[in-house]
Parts: sequence; C-alpha cells; structure tokens
Amino acid sequence: MTHLSVLPRLQDPRHARALIREIERLSSGRSLRIVHVCGTHEDTISRHGLRSLLPPKVQLVAGPGCPVCVCAAQDVDLAVELARQGHIITTFGDMVRVPSSHSSLARERAAGADVRVVYGVNDAVEIARRHPGRKVIFVGAGFETTAPTMALEVLRGLPDNFSLLTSLKVIPPAMEILVDIEGFNVDGFITPGHVSAIIGTNAFQSFAQRHHVPCVAAGFEPLDVLEAVRMLLLQIEEGRAESENEYRRVVRPEGNLAAQRVMHEAFYIRDAPWRGLGVIPDSGLFLRDRFSSHDTRKLFDIEVTDSVDILPGCRCHEVVLGMTDPTECPLFGKRCVPEDPYGPCMVGHEGTCRIRYENQAL
Ligand code: SF4
Repeated sequence: MTHLSVLPRLQDPRHARALIREIERLSSGRSLRIVHVCGTHEDTISRHGLRSLLPPKVQLVAGPGCPVCVCAAQDVDLAVELARQGHIITTFGDMVRVPSSHSSLARERAAGADVRVVYGVNDAVEIARRHPGRKVIFVGAGFETTAPTMALEVLRGLPDNFSLLTSLKVIPPAMEILVDIEGFNVDGFITPGHVSAIIGTNAFQSFAQRHHVPCVAAGFEPLDVLEAVRMLLLQIEEGRAESENEYRRVVRPEGNLAAQRVMHEAFYIRDAPWRGLGVIPDSGLFLRDRFSSHDTRKLFDIEVTDSVDILPGCRCHEVVLGMTDPTECPLFGKRCVPEDPYGPCMVGHEGTCRIRYENQAL
C-alpha cells in the first residue's frame, strides 16, 4: 500500500510549488549541472516542462540513458548480416529501426529478410520452438533492468536452434567515464529508478564518495524528479556526497537480490563498446561460457570489421554526453525524424533526440 499512499502527494500542485521554492533557495543563484542517465527521466522532464520550472542556472542534462542509443553499430551490423543469411531475427520494436553502419533490420525486412518484433525474449524462444529447422536469433539491448528477464530465460533452458545476440550494459561504469571526461561538469546525478530497483542505491555509494558527486535515485512522476533535484541540492549545500533514495516506494538500498543472482548466473561482466562513448571497462554483460551454444557471437563465424558508430553529420556522440542539444544537430527534424531516424538517438521513446522532437511538436 505504500506506493498508493504517496501518489496524491506526487500529484499535489502545492507540493510542487513548495519544492520549486526550496530548489530556488538551495541553489541560491549558483550554476549547477544535474545529470541523469535514464531515457524515462528525460521523457518525464521534457514532457512536463520541468526545466522551465527550475532556476535558470540549474541545468538538467540528459546523459547516456537509452540502451538503443548506445548499442554499438557492430552489434547491429552482425544482426543485419545474420538476417541476410536467412535466419529468423527477433527483437524489440525499437531495435528494428536502429541504424547499422550501412542498413538497419527494418531495411533488411523490407528487402525480404525474416525479422520479427517480439515483446519479450520468451516470445522469441517460442518462435524457435515452432521453427526447429531454422536458426532463431534474439537481438536484445538493455541495461540492468532488461538483463534479469533474459537471464531467467537462459537459466530455464533454451531450444538448440536459439541464440542470443545481446547488447546488455551496466550503468555505473558509464558514470565513471562521464566524470573523467574533460569539460563534463557534473554537480549531481539523478540515478535511474528502474536500474536502481535492480542494483539498489548501495551500488552508487562508492562512486558518490570517490568522486564527491551526490547521487539520488528517482522515480518517474514529475514531482519525483523535482524532489530528487531538491535532495541533490541539499547534499551540495551540506557538503555531502552520498547515494540517496527518492524512489523508496520501489527501490531498496540493496536492490533486488533475486534479480541480481539470476543476472550473474547467466552473464559475466567485461569491457563493452558503447556507441558514441567507445569501449568502457567492465560495462557489458555477456553470456557465461556454459551457455556458449546459445551465444550468437560464438556460434556464427562472422567478422564485422568496418562498423561506423556515428554516421556522417550525426551528433549522437555529443547528445548522449549531454554536450549538444538535439536541436543543435543540423539533421534534427530534417533528414532525421522519428519515422526515418538517421541516428540512434531519434529511434526510441528513450532517445533524447526523439523525446525533444516529440515534445517540440506538441
Ligand atoms: S538529430 Fe538525428 S542525426 Fe542528429 S544527433 Fe540526433 S539522432 Fe543523430
């Protein structure tokens, strides 16, 4: 019942006004840069116009929080090649339209490839069971939120003709990279609510202390985000840098231990390429060796060598770092629109360019 009892407060305009007044008081005219790393937070912020409610010098910046946007081109290139070889490719709707170096799964499907959209990995497994004579590949991008579901399916046992081509990433190592980038100033992080529900707020504690950057896990109502900003500013005023929890109705300090267990039973962590950010140490989840008969990368001897992460003119590498506003990209709304995305940040509902485009059009 806890989550129900807080909802009226999250919709109370008086509470919103009080929060904004408190944010104004705590910021006391200072320039502060608050970064979030979650596409759903960007959606809440943009859709509800939260930036316009904050003091002008308090910036809310979108970081790399969209799994489709940071999925490396080499992963999509491999999926495209497998589609061309006649295998059944299954994936989430967004992934179909993510640009590869020279194509996309949507284009391959238009050219006759067997590319199917599924709602979950279990649907893809079911397709494999219905087509025992075909190779079925599930292409999945995601963060810690998505990984446990895939892990569970792996641990349950997969059909022989089924394999996973995953682009699964973990968030904390990306935050480590962000704070080391010259010119990337950050005074506080709003940490992602969904990811925090899995890994817990404790997972960001060492980061906050080592870099002396406050972190607050936030929910997805507009007032969740405003409250997280208030909590960050309070930490800054008090000289603290801790990992705090605004989203207590969902997130626990230790996270979801059962989800963590299955995730680590199926996957191990190693360096992974992020589109626009390069290879980030210990940031990717990969199938453990005992599941190698279901690991697409090991099953198919295909070498992808000429991958292009950022197509000419696209500025996604700057957008995912919060260093360029989508509207500063000359292709925004012209060559690059949601119906025909040129760069990955225009593809899905968590992409910063797409969110900006849709809210601008309202
Ligand atoms: S508008 Fe399109 S091309 Fe430009 S940065 Fe965004 S996704 Fe890339």
